[in-house]
Amino acid sequence: SASGFGSLVWFRKGLRVHDNPALEYASKGSQFLYPVFVIDPHYMELDPSAFSPGSSRSGVNRIRFLLESLKDLDSSLKKLGSRLLVLKGEPGEVLVRCLQEWKVNMLCFEYDTDPYYQALDVRVKDYASSTGVEVFSPVSHTLFNPADIIEKNGGKPPLSYQSFVKIAGEPSCATSELVMSYSSLPPIGEVGNLGISEVPTLEELGYREDEIAEWTPFRGGESEALQRLTKSISDKAWVANFEKPKGDPSAFLKPATTVLSPYLKFGCLSSRYFYQCLKNIYKDVKKHTSPPVSLLGQLLWREFFYTTAFGTPNFDKMRGNRICKQIPWNEDHAMLAAWRDGKTGYPWIDAIMVQLLKWGWMHHLARHCVACFLTRGDLFIHWEQGRDVFERLLIDSDWAINNGNWMWLSCSSFFYQYNRIYSPISFGKKYDPDGKFIRHFLPVLKDMPKQYIYEPWTAPLSVQTKAKCIVGKDYPKPMVLHDTASKECKRKMGETYALNKKKEGKVDDEDLKNLR
Ligand code: FAD
Repeated sequence: SASGFGSLVWFRKGLRVHDNPALEYASKGSQFLYPVFVIDPHYMELDPSAFSPGSSRSGVNRIRFLLESLKDLDSSLKKLGSRLLVLKGEPGEVLVRCLQEWKVNMLCFEYDTDPYYQALDVRVKDYASSTGVEVFSPVSHTLFNPADIIEKNGGKPPLSYQSFVKIAGEPSCATSELVMSYSSLPPIGEVGNLGISEVPTLEELGYREDEIAEWTPFRGGESEALQRLTKSISDKAWVANFEKPKGDPSAFLKPATTVLSPYLKFGCLSSRYFYQCLKNIYKDVKKHTSPPVSLLGQLLWREFFYTTAFGTPNFDKMRGNRICKQIPWNEDHAMLAAWRDGKTGYPWIDAIMVQLLKWGWMHHLARHCVACFLTRGDLFIHWEQGRDVFERLLIDSDWAINNGNWMWLSCSSFFYQYNRIYSPISFGKKYDPDGKFIRHFLPVLKDMPKQYIYEPWTAPLSVQTKAKCIVGKDYPKPMVLHDTASKECKRKMGETYALNKKKEGKVDDEDLKNLR
């Protein structure tokens, strides 16, 4: 059997059958097809400081989402006469062993711009070509190839959304036909003895089912993604009128946006298919919103961050990152921990952080509020530390988008109006005067009368007693006074900006010299 033409399709993101060019290419003309997913310990290291910032261990909700996605993929492949081969270990080593053992002729995997995969893929590709294995690695996670945009822009990524949109133009998927399904796939060849398993359980990966009190309501997988997409866009008027940031960040029973981000993150949903669906709706309606506020415009935000991230060395750090302002953030572990654990004493902020812990998803503006609060708004703590907390707990945690947005919210890059600070009291109140969102995620406050729900420390003791919530005992006092803290933050940002300006001037001169 080893004489037949064999292909290996390596799933990483792109956990789908529809619009999957790597799968399509691998299946064409192959006698045997090996669909592989490698469980990478890099993302699930068990360490004693599992919940400390900086731990690279993925939160339990995201791992569960991943396992659900793998199960769904496996069952779709089974319907086509194939199945998912799950292996465990350092992916580079595992892949090399598979290529050797199965004597495959071709290796196909989706191109990935994240630095982790860039480094890994070079190793795997080098090995493959040195042994005569053909490699096919198409761009299908994004609408555009970030490298093309950077080239069109003279070698540097565009740093504003407007210029990005102008340079990018229409993606090729606007006109191409996507392969959405198959009638069958080539069978799997001899798999030998490589430690192939079924999709593991959480326990097998070192997670405990009871690690959190509430599971995310969002289920992983391509089937779920396509259903969710269909439902999200079934109301054409809603799609046509979509306008961000106008939605309600406190809506949680029916979120104001699509919640397709975790599906796009894992590639359970093709962004190119999503794009085509939106274009088709726009054709059918008289009038629709436009980027940056439209739903299609949201997809372009994703492209924008993928492009800037790909074209910026050290994009995930302040130091050595040429688009990131150098800001003397404070080190304060206790404050960071209070923010992370939803114990700032500001119910709006704390409820959002609890939603992050329990659901792994929050509305975009809710993310704005807590990111601003941690950094330039109130606590003046480093965006990298907030980024770490999000990276671990979000089910849609995405390297390019998360880092880009943290730089944005901390006024480190892209956005510089540091005087515009979200109030942890009045911002949420505008949308949710009764505090339903707070009562849901912080049940300790569920009986607090509405006039105190955003500022429980102002409630008379008799009211606190009646609501069975004594501030300072059952719920924390505010850790900072927003008015003074935010003033101090603005002052520091002003100073830093002035200093950066001087330095940036110098750097520009250097750049000019280099050009000459
Ligand atoms: P919708 O409004 O329905 O948008 C559809 C899709 O467009 C999203 O699924 C997403 O893929 C994309 N999109 C929307 N907004 C943005 C944006 N601002 N930047 C880039 N792409 C966008 N999003 C992530 O996917 N992963 C992250 O790790 C992440 N970290 C963030 C960190 C901070 C501090 C902030 C402020 C935002 C972050 N976002 C992140 C962006 C945004 O909040 C989410 O993409 C969005 O809320 C997801 O919900 P949705 O799918 O309902 O969005």
